[in-house]
Amino acid sequence: EDRLKVDNITVKYGSFTAVKNVGFSIKSGEIAALIGPNGAGKSTLLKSIIGLVDYRGNILLDGKTMNKLSVKDRAQQIGYLSQNPNDYITKDTVYEELLFTLKNFNIKDKGIVDDILKKLDLYKHKDKNPRDLSGGEKQRLALANTLILRPKVLLLDEPTRGIDNNNKGEIAKILKSLADEGVSIILITHDIEFAAEVCDKFILMFNGEIAEMGDRKVLEDCI
Ligand code: ADP
Ligand code: ADP
Repeated sequence: EDRLKVDNITVKYGSFTAVKNVGFSIKSGEIAALIGPNGAGKSTLLKSIIGLVDYRGNILLDGKTMNKLSVKDRAQQIGYLSQNPNDYITKDTVYEELLFTLKNFNIKDKGIVDDILKKLDLYKHKDKNPRDLSGGEKQRLALANTLILRPKVLLLDEPTRGIDNNNKGEIAKILKSLADEGVSIILITHDIEFAAEVCDKFILMFNGEIAEMGDRKVLEDCI
């Protein structure tokens, strides 16, 4: 059955329509690549799902509409990583950064911080200043900050942008293991090789609309 259903979403910026009547659904544990040229509406679509932009249509999680929920309430169930997640770093250590997120969402179980740090191979960096981490480590911290809320759905805006192949492999591994645990993932990428490696299906956007959807095999044939 469907975990997330995006039902006939339209988003306008003034009189410009950035996303037009977009609909698709994604099952528990599925990974979808959202691809298409710059300006196609990919980021806007993810922002509508988390509630960062106003939209017409319906976003359903496990059959229940998210439309009336605030961004913060959605974030408990739908994790979102923007293109520049590190703009939001506020604390002086990796550990405090994650603790701050917990506090923000009123989660009392601090044990989860260590669990997530270990899972994302950041435990040895827990007392470091987040600003001093490498690009790949920063990206994993951003992911940790989202995963700490144990979301059912994860939305990632270009998670491998500016990341070397080693760290890309790490991210691929993490995403696959999350999917194995039942998390549904939608990720924007321009890296078709990465998409073919980690994604079960693809959604191709063009001019605000879905131009094509299909399974991994099509991506493999594009490489
Ligand atoms: P993509 O992620 O596929 O590159 P975006 O969703 O970022 O596409 O943008 C889709 C279109 O909407 C683009 O033409 C972009 O310029 C426009 N757009 C995005 N954000 C805004 C905004 N805040 N105000 C006006 N236009 C915007
Ligand atoms: P992000 O939050 O992902 O960094 P933005 O939402 O600020 O991105 O912008 C996404 C895209 O839309 C970018 O290409 C940006 O240039 C374009 N954009 C943002 N604001 C406007 C706007 N007011 N008018 C036209 N295009 C815009």
